Amino acid sequence: MDPALALAIFAFGLAFGSFLHVSIYRLPRALSVVLPNSACPACQQPIRLYDNIPVLSWLLLGGRCRHCKARITPRYLVVELLTGALFLACYAHFGLTLATLKYCTLGFLLLGLIFTDAETHLLPDKMTLPGLALGLLFSLVVPVNDLASQLLPGLIALPISSDISAHLLSLADALLGTAVGASFVYGAGAIYLRARGVEGMGFGDVKLMAMIGAFLGLKLTIFTLFTASIAGSIVGISTVFVVWFKRTRRRMARQHETAREARRRAWGSAAIALRHHQIPFGVFLGSMAMLAFFFGNRFLHWYWGLM
Ligand SMILES: [Zn+2]
Repeated sequence: MDPALALAIFAFGLAFGSFLHVSIYRLPRALSVVLPNSACPACQQPIRLYDNIPVLSWLLLGGRCRHCKARITPRYLVVELLTGALFLACYAHFGLTLATLKYCTLGFLLLGLIFTDAETHLLPDKMTLPGLALGLLFSLVVPVNDLASQLLPGLIALPISSDISAHLLSLADALLGTAVGASFVYGAGAIYLRARGVEGMGFGDVKLMAMIGAFLGLKLTIFTLFTASIAGSIVGISTVFVVWFKRTRRRMARQHETAREARRRAWGSAAIALRHHQIPFGVFLGSMAMLAFFFGNRFLHWYWGLM
């Protein structure tokens, strides 16, 4: 790893993070990401170029607007640093290759979608649909080395040169990832709606998973779905228990109920909280997809080694 290049890539990531933060704020509000220039949300003063340097400006201004001293959300800093770290990690992991460009692109989109979903429960089409197209295009230049590409050549003998068929197999893998990812989320959403009467997953999640599938291919798509379901369930179940525990204690303290009575009634309110509290599933899908392209293959090799 070349230290000068690493530093440049990190700085590049910070700048992209700055732009990403603007998109996270504007896309769910249906605002343009390019015009107008950024302004302070409190006093509407345009933010000058020298006050818009990633990380540094925020630190120098102490997280406040230069004019009205209103607080600027530290999410600025978090998104910029995460994007910088992501770009650096891709370079460290994949070297100076097209794969680095591919996974920087995917990670950038995922970070944006994770933050947007956590904040607004929306996954804007303006991120997922171009992402889906980019993922399919990337599969033609960076081979999705996956199950289908290992299995398909034995099943079908393509009457074309092996060079072209390798690209086509990679594209087939990406399409397979898209189809399986999208239909799994669509199916899970339909079952969830039947079982609980509330919408747990929307079309945003379906499109997000279609995009992830295009970038990752079949094998890592399945890895993403599997780990995200586990992570989502763990968080969901522990939320219920935390609510239950807190309500029980409050009932015992305030209403002087017996422990048994308090536990029974608190369970009722925890169940209601679960019904109405929507878990942003895109956050889990996005985070696990990120984990997948760094560690998914290594994990699967280790796992298959155990069997
Ligand atoms: Zn201001």
